[in-house]
Amino acid sequence: MKKLGFICSAILCVAFACSSPAVDGTSENTVEIRSSTPRPTFRVELSTTPTPPMETPTLQSLVCSPLGGETLQELTEIITQPFKTPRATQDDGHHGVDFAFYRRKELMSIDGLPILSTLDGKVVTIISDKYPYGNAIIIETQLDSLSPDLIEKIRIPEVQPTVAPDPKFNWTPGEFSMKLDTSKKSLYIVYAHLKYPAEVSVNDFIKCGQRIGQVGSTGDSTNPHLHFETRIGPSGASFDSMAYYTAQSTASERYNYVIWRVTNLFQLFDPMQLLSVDG
Ligand SMILES: [Zn+2]
Repeated sequence: MKKLGFICSAILCVAFACSSPAVDGTSENTVEIRSSTPRPTFRVELSTTPTPPMETPTLQSLVCSPLGGETLQELTEIITQPFKTPRATQDDGHHGVDFAFYRRKELMSIDGLPILSTLDGKVVTIISDKYPYGNAIIIETQLDSLSPDLIEKIRIPEVQPTVAPDPKFNWTPGEFSMKLDTSKKSLYIVYAHLKYPAEVSVNDFIKCGQRIGQVGSTGDSTNPHLHFETRIGPSGASFDSMAYYTAQSTASERYNYVIWRVTNLFQLFDPMQLLSVDG
């Protein structure tokens, strides 16, 4: 395990440690994942490679509505499915909040409505028509770019210990790697089920209120809606893609999906904690 630990020192590495009664040498850079027996114990090692600060000259104190023509206050009127905390090790619940409407104001439907970035941040992941998110964008905002006042208003949760996903998830721990900066935390926002492929590119810096796409119904969706999802995790994360286990998904997509949704490495919280803050 020492050799493996060395190899993985600059990357995220999830490795089985079935024969070890305990994983020692745990440092502040090592997240130990233990599951109740009889599941195997494995650990995640994380780099402290510093990520450069984002280009935000002043601390952000503004939250923007993610939907064109709707104020933050109006969002509560168009929630069609609220956030529901999943059970530990499982991929159930509802990981975000859904917004949709028919016949509202002068519009017949939310279909095609502009989606706007809620915070300043950087595009770190673009998902192209994969189950369940469909066309989706993940934007990262480093917590140290937010004003203390805003952080307090959002009531950002403590990150819970990582968990070993239920064995039913078809993935292989340690199979792929990911660069992360564990010296900083970021807020990650998913905008999912977009009508068209992303209008932005990975590494683009986006401003609060900037248009990033249009509401659609791609992925696991039967009617046009915006699925808006928020997580706290180590800075610097980026996924090539991610997808649930299907005949079409690749091993890499399934791995990313499980790391993102089931391990707690990216701590889920109710997006309305962010969207209830006055803009
Ligand atoms: Zn949803």
